[in-house]
Amino acid sequence: MPDNQIQQQFRLDGKVAIVTGGAMGMGKSIAQTMCGAGASVIIADIDMETANETAEEIKAAGGKVAAVRTDLTIVADAPKLVEATVKEFGRLDIMVNNAGYMQIMPFLDVTEALYDRTLNINLKGMFFYSQAAAKQMISQGEGGRIINTASLAALLPSPPMAHYAASKGGVVSLTKAMARELVAHDILVNTVIPGGVVTPGAVGTTIEVSKVYPQLPKEVEDALTNMMVRMPLGRVAEPEEIADVVLFLASPASKYMVGSVVVADGGVLLT
Ligand code: NAD
Repeated sequence: MPDNQIQQQFRLDGKVAIVTGGAMGMGKSIAQTMCGAGASVIIADIDMETANETAEEIKAAGGKVAAVRTDLTIVADAPKLVEATVKEFGRLDIMVNNAGYMQIMPFLDVTEALYDRTLNINLKGMFFYSQAAAKQMISQGEGGRIINTASLAALLPSPPMAHYAASKGGVVSLTKAMARELVAHDILVNTVIPGGVVTPGAVGTTIEVSKVYPQLPKEVEDALTNMMVRMPLGRVAEPEEIADVVLFLASPASKYMVGSVVVADGGVLLT
């Protein structure tokens, strides 16, 4: 295949994408990467100050981007996000369900409030925001892509956070079920499973858990140490390395992938 055709396989020119949680961490890298590939991107985030800063940064680099305040726990707002996207950029082709909430907490100490917050953002929000996005894609009649971010926790529950593992296990199942139903409309749904990634969220949860306990429970300390030891690649990922996988799943290059679970974990599952 000639070089220019290979490049086209990874371009998103003329496509419009929503990236939830696009203000920081992996979502920011995904928004930057997609804009770099020619897409117009809506950053859908609850943190508008950071979302606007990220949007300005991307615009300064020549990207087409706008930020829309979004709280994934408010299901009724899902159609409003899609309306705002269509108003801004005329259509919607790609939904990246990246936003997530992660709090390390041993099973015996998880409160109902923590469980509900985790499941509401990671799974219920993803469900209904995807539903609104899919309805728009179907109305356009040209198919689309939905990319869900799960976590290694769905396959390998460590460090201790059963509530988070349950939510991300749900993401894998939801991806497959959505993929099965939406393929009839040429909407391809896939999920990415990152291992450890350096982001504000990952750093934050380690700080938060140490605030809750005067001394970290042994199972938390052991799990964190274990996680680093169990990395054949010897390091955690940079957000850009996961964004590249998401770009692939959004691009023409992955047009035969339906309901796939793509693991990018530096080899952790090999150990
Ligand atoms: P992060 O915490 O650094 O960023 C999350 C973003 O989501 C933030 O911009 C935040 O404002 C936004 N957000 C939070 N709650 C929201 C809500 N209710 N509505 C809208 N936006 C909201 O996260 P990250 O580490 O970049 O993780 C991104 C995704 O990858 C998450 O789904 C996470 O569970 C998953 N993940 C992360 C890691 C990791 O090691 N960092 C590993 C595996 C999977």
